[in-house]
Amino acid sequence: MGKTAFSFVIPVYNEEAVLPLLLHRLARVTEKIDGRCEIIFVDDGSRDSSAIVLAELARTNPQYRYIRFARNFGHQIAVSAGLRAATGDAVIILDADLQDPPEVALDLIAKWREGYEVVYAQRTKRAGEPFLKKATAHVFYRALSRLSTIELPRDVGDFRLVDRAAVDAFLAMPEYNRYVRGMFAWIGFRQTSVPYERDPRAAGSTKYPLRKMLSLAANAIVSFSDAPLKAAIYVGAMISAAALAFGAYVVLRALFWTEGLVDGWASTVAIVSLLSGVNMLMTGIVGLYVGRIHSEVKNRPLYIVERRVGFDHAINEHSV
Ligand code: UDP
Ligand code: MG
Repeated sequence: MGKTAFSFVIPVYNEEAVLPLLLHRLARVTEKIDGRCEIIFVDDGSRDSSAIVLAELARTNPQYRYIRFARNFGHQIAVSAGLRAATGDAVIILDADLQDPPEVALDLIAKWREGYEVVYAQRTKRAGEPFLKKATAHVFYRALSRLSTIELPRDVGDFRLVDRAAVDAFLAMPEYNRYVRGMFAWIGFRQTSVPYERDPRAAGSTKYPLRKMLSLAANAIVSFSDAPLKAAIYVGAMISAAALAFGAYVVLRALFWTEGLVDGWASTVAIVSLLSGVNMLMTGIVGLYVGRIHSEVKNRPLYIVERRVGFDHAINEHSV
């Protein structure tokens, strides 16, 4: 048994602009770490020169490893693949764009040495991000922690250190729709946080357009809360009660007041259209959950690997 080993897992999608700086800062951090380090880049189907740079690095330098997906599978899946490939006693998940300063890894490791299995980096500030992104993130994290039955730390991304025991627990979760930070919260163990200031992206532009952000948010809520389903029942019950009262009124009116019997088309149209709108909304909510059952049931592999460079051990790709 050698020294303690650390694995860095870094998802990469078209990050050529930031790679030189990233590699430079990573090298300075790993020098300071007391232990062996491996750095795993998971290339989520990049179409720029990231692929060439990282594959070459993994070929020539034993510290680096490279996994390339056959297409873009998404950030959360890339992180999962990296965790599957990691061999370290502790694994550090880090974004490629230097918004998560690699230097913070030293603090994460210090906490891990105190005995915590999950040490997440908690943002105290987010510099250089658009107001809309910060505002929606703020609302999202608060809404999610109210809706969810498990405790999800706020203002925490995927930047964290996880102990081997927590990684193994994570890898035993086969789900297809993955919200990585939620899954780690679900696992339990001793968890703690280290505060840090989130930097602006060092170079390049965000790989999380609004579409991907919304899908991550929907995924998080549907994975960790059944509140929308319960809300559908409450709203349905309230509308049914109102409809019952109104129905009683209409019948009584027809029985005891004869005038105005043919009126009421306006209220009929209003009520019918309101009800069909509500109905569709509820069906849509149920559909979200059914859709997820569908994608889980298909039981496809989570991702397809195109190639792998720098690994000297086999990886059982199909158990995550
Ligand atoms: N990323 C990825 N696949 C994607 C989108 C993003 O692997 O489909 C990576 C990206 O290269 C970066 C990390 O995930 O390392 C976070 O993405 P980004 O910084 O663009 O998101 P933001 O910080 O703007 O939310
Ligand atoms: Mg970023």
